Amino acid sequence: MITAHLPSGYLLAKLTRTPRLLMPFAILGAVLPDFDMFWFHLVDNRAFHHHKYWVHVPGFWLPVAVFTLAFLYLFIRPRLKFPVMQAAYLFFAAILLHLILDSFTGSIMWLWPFDHTLYELVKVSAQYDNWVWSFILHWTFSAEVMIWFTAIYLYFKPLPESSSDAI
Ligand SMILES: [Zn+2]
Repeated sequence: MITAHLPSGYLLAKLTRTPRLLMPFAILGAVLPDFDMFWFHLVDNRAFHHHKYWVHVPGFWLPVAVFTLAFLYLFIRPRLKFPVMQAAYLFFAAILLHLILDSFTGSIMWLWPFDHTLYELVKVSAQYDNWVWSFILHWTFSAEVMIWFTAIYLYFKPLPESSSDAI
C-alpha cells in the first residue's frame, strides 16, 4: 500500500468509535512503519527491501506490544486519568492494520524469526520503468482509492457520536 495508510488509521478510529482525543494514536500507528523510508533512502541507499526493517516485521511488534501493554497497565494506567490503555490498543491495532494492508501487494515477513520469506497476496509485476506507476495502474490500487473515498466520506458525514466521544 502506497498512499492509504493515513486514511486507514482515520477509518480505524472512526469505525471503532474512538474518542477524537485518541485519533492521533491511530494515525501515528497507521503511518509509523513507513518512517523506515528515511533510513531506506538516506542511509541504506535502497540496498534492502524496506519491509525487511524491524518496523515492518510482525515478529518484532508482538513482543513490543505485549511488553508495552503490560507496562502501561501495571505502572501508568493507575496514575493517569488519560485513557492510556485505549490509546495503546489503538496504536498497536493501527500498526497491525498497516502490516495487513502492506501484505496485499507490498509483502511482509509474517513468519519471522522462523522464516524470512516476504509474503504478499497479489504480486504486482514491473509493467513500467517507474515502480510507482506499476502500482498505481494495477487493479489493486482501487483498494487504496476506496479507503481514501470512505475516509473522506466519513470525515464530511460523520457517524453518530457515542457518549464516549465527549472525552
Ligand atoms: Zn509499509
